[in-house]
Amino acid sequence: MDYVSSVLNELKKKNANEPEFVQAATEILSCLEPVFERHPEYERAGLLERFVEPERVVMFRVPWVDDAGMVRVDRGYRVQFNSAIGPYKGGLRFHPSVDLSIIKFLGIEQVLKNSLTGLPIGGGKGGSDFDPKGKSEGEIMRFCQSFMTELYRHLGQDADVPAGDIGVGSREIGYLFGQYKRIRGEHVGVLTGRGLSYGGSLVRKEATGYGLVYMVEEALGHRGDSLKGKRVIVSGSGNVAIYACEKALSLGAKVVAMYDSDGYIADMGGIDLAVIKQIKEVERGRIREYAERVKGASYHEGCRGIWNIPCDIALPCATQNEIDLHSAKALIKNGVKLIGEGANMPTTLEAIEAFRKAGVVFLPAKAANAGGVATSALEMAQSSGRMFWTFEEVDAKLRSIMSGIYRSMDEAAREYSLDGDYVAGANIAGFCKVADAMMAQGVV
Ligand code: NDP
Repeated sequence: MDYVSSVLNELKKKNANEPEFVQAATEILSCLEPVFERHPEYERAGLLERFVEPERVVMFRVPWVDDAGMVRVDRGYRVQFNSAIGPYKGGLRFHPSVDLSIIKFLGIEQVLKNSLTGLPIGGGKGGSDFDPKGKSEGEIMRFCQSFMTELYRHLGQDADVPAGDIGVGSREIGYLFGQYKRIRGEHVGVLTGRGLSYGGSLVRKEATGYGLVYMVEEALGHRGDSLKGKRVIVSGSGNVAIYACEKALSLGAKVVAMYDSDGYIADMGGIDLAVIKQIKEVERGRIREYAERVKGASYHEGCRGIWNIPCDIALPCATQNEIDLHSAKALIKNGVKLIGEGANMPTTLEAIEAFRKAGVVFLPAKAANAGGVATSALEMAQSSGRMFWTFEEVDAKLRSIMSGIYRSMDEAAREYSLDGDYVAGANIAGFCKVADAMMAQGVV
């Protein structure tokens, strides 16, 4: 058996109770065999065994008091996956589904994503199984303070710099930052996604969604096409989805459907984003209210049906494994041309294979949604330099970073005679830089 397969088999055995981590690692490792053929020295250095094992996993208790005076306990995580090319960087997710498998899959993806940005950031991820839904402001604040009271000792602006993810937006980052500052007595860039009044960067809020659409536009441009007039499905209605929708609309596309975890709305005339923003960002309400406010729109319970709506482009922007083989077949049957992954691992391995066979352009998450972390790194640069760049400056840098990522994965795919296979291209390009740095730093 070759080296890569034997490491993957061992990983599957060791982590049999971590299905999402195994899924992400399988996708990555199945692309790396040609790299190891060219670099036999990596095997002797145990490079792959080290790459798939996080440098450190921290798990902790998060006790907090609810509004009724009851003590609640959730579980906190920080996986510091790989620091070969820079300090650990990656978001915090608050969602009841969070467990070690989810955080490790997000962590290993983050290592390669951060490498692809070309910026000096390593990979990490964290979060909690705390469910923010239905909690009061006071409960959210007390939870965040308790979470940071343990986490702070593992962080540092040059050591580990978290950001947001599902369930962690600007409000939560504010509370987490406030507690860090209070404990450490220092106002430093230890979290990104901060508010503009206390060290945040312009464009950070928009960055993941905008970056995704910049890459879609780039991929279409290379095929003599553009977003103009395209019917787009954007799943989710959180941070990534809203700003993907905003940029797609500004480039002339028509977004025909979105969802939250209860169900989806369809609006074939084109979604009115102002209404979505009012419901989701201002009122923190449910997406079903859109159909009550906008004539011609419909609401459907459950999420899966969204992929039966005919579209040219699908941008899954909610969560992992949103598109399974069944959904992929429906999309292909309806003539989808391009999938751009805004969420992390939103497409199952079988669905990716179906898109590949059908010749659908597939932009994988670690490349397509890297705009968020890239702009976080720009926030870190502004913090350290005590600078504040304009919206136009940050947006131009984001655009150029997305274009650079597209080029790297395209070139890596070509170099290995896998033209147009961006899953392979992104994994290879991301991995090679990390591998170089790990080899240079000895057995650590
Ligand atoms: P948000 O919490 O802002 O939004 C998440 C959205 O997805 C909500 O509409 C939520 O619905 C929906 N959702 C969550 N879980 C499910 C589920 N199981 N089924 C159906 N819908 C679901 O998160 P973000 O927009 O920040 O993150 C979305 C994705 O993008 C995640 O995969 C994240 O890892 C990834 N990502 C985010 C980045 C960022 O900068 N924020 C950067 C790179 C990747 P509801 O409100 O009903 O729960």
